[in-house]
Amino acid sequence: MTREEKIAIYPGSFDPVTKGHIDILERASKMFDRVIIAVLKNGNKKALIPVQDRVELIKKSVEEFDNVEVDFFDGLTVEYAKMRGAKFLIRGLRAVSDFEYEMQLSQANMSIAPEIGTVFLTTKPKYNFISSGIVKELSGFGQDVSKFVPNSVVEYLERQNKKGTI
Ligand code: ADP
Repeated sequence: MTREEKIAIYPGSFDPVTKGHIDILERASKMFDRVIIAVLKNGNKKALIPVQDRVELIKKSVEEFDNVEVDFFDGLTVEYAKMRGAKFLIRGLRAVSDFEYEMQLSQANMSIAPEIGTVFLTTKPKYNFISSGIVKELSGFGQDVSKFVPNSVVEYLERQNKKGTI
């Protein structure tokens, strides 16, 4: 019997990708045949880092996972998921404060695409408080963020800070 490939989309702004995101991704990559990290090009939150750079930074950080792909999209996540043949969305939960929004989002997605399910994962406690926003803020004040983000992101933020772009 041939089994259908289980494909999951991990959507987000990834502005920039953090070790929290990578931890979620690592767990997801063990649960699904293929995981597509999908960077939202124009989300509600105005991104500081251009989408091509966000994609490149993720690619450099996920080279060790052979069932992970990185892409970007615009528009509805479930439409993108359908286009890619994915039946699952991955989202990370940090604290109770994430829960209400994530619950609404998953149920809104369920009402427009009932065949697609959302899977929530949590990170190791040491990554729980990390957010892209905090990383940008600390880095902007010249703080070392190497505990929170992959090396490629540390170097990128340092370059951008020197140029005064971020
Ligand atoms: P979005 O703008 O869609 O919230 P983010 O890039 O901020 O995009 O986050 C993408 C997903 O990763 C979200 O589900 C978010 O809750 C999750 N996430 C981000 N940081 C962490 C973390 N440190 N631990 C667990 N989940 C996280």
